[in-house]
Amino acid sequence: MSADVIDGKAFAAALRAKVAGAAGRFRDLTGRPPGLAVVLVGEDGPSSIYVRSKARATLEAGMNGIVHRLDAHASQDALLDLVASLNADDVIDGILVQLPLPPQIGEAAVIAAVDPTKDVDGFHPVNAGRLATGQTALVPCTPLGCLLLLQNRLGDLSGLDAVVIGRSNIVGKPMAALLLGANCTVTIAHSRTRDLPDVVRRADIVVAAVGRAEMVRGDWIKPGATVIDVGINRVDGKLVGDVAYDEAARTAGAITPVPGGVGPMTIAVLLRNTLFAAHARAGMTAPEGLA
Ligand code: NDP
Repeated sequence: MSADVIDGKAFAAALRAKVAGAAGRFRDLTGRPPGLAVVLVGEDGPSSIYVRSKARATLEAGMNGIVHRLDAHASQDALLDLVASLNADDVIDGILVQLPLPPQIGEAAVIAAVDPTKDVDGFHPVNAGRLATGQTALVPCTPLGCLLLLQNRLGDLSGLDAVVIGRSNIVGKPMAALLLGANCTVTIAHSRTRDLPDVVRRADIVVAAVGRAEMVRGDWIKPGATVIDVGINRVDGKLVGDVAYDEAARTAGAITPVPGGVGPMTIAVLLRNTLFAAHARAGMTAPEGLA
């Protein structure tokens, strides 16, 4: 048996096209495009690449994309001042401060300073709380992208056993909340979990968000399970996921590749979140067909 490959790249391209259509309609109705401001502090290599791709994707979707760069030695106050000015700027609907930040800046203080209605990363405690309590929220892009891939593959997720490996605020916890909201029976595993292989063997859905190359082995996977690999690990110059892909693909029903699975979804959902934030700020109902 060989698993179906879940093509995140194609799904993300389709989502981006739908977002672009809805962004055009928003512009026609309001006289301005949705706007996203991305803030980069310093010149961290991967972060610069992510910021460039986010800005390019924003423009391609017909949105207003602005990048603000601060020096690597910028103070926390300088960053908070910039965030305050973006909060007050009416043509900006989404604010994303690229993480990680340099050591002189406290991540929690910056996340808390972003206006929750513009928090397109979904990291603000207000949005985390809204998600946890089942209210409409701006939801972190990567886990929402995973949920969309799962629903596209499986349809209704009700009653399925889901195991999320990883409990970060960025991926694991919101992923678990989304799966619970979709009526899965959810287990959150982490570095202290006992007998992880056995826990994973129960799962109809496995989401691996650990950051350890090929940690999840093929014989951990229940036959037919759907495997979502969030991990991005660089091994000998090559990108590999948290799942041993070739082994797992022999048992799983469907699996995301790395690269080309979850990665492309993150930016597509960022655009979707910006579009939703723009609608909410303009007092308009959320566009349909974009989840
Ligand atoms: P974190 O480092 O914040 O969290 C990792 C989690 O994995 C922790 O909860 C940790 O447990 C758990 N963990 C570590 N070792 C083990 C182990 N041996 N067994 C079980 N659990 C373990 O990472 P992130 O959530 O930010 O990211 C996870 C991965 O996803 C990374 O590879 C990252 O690069 C990737 N990523 C990909 C994105 C994309 O767009 N595709 C976006 C964001 C992240 P504990 O809490 O106990 O320490």
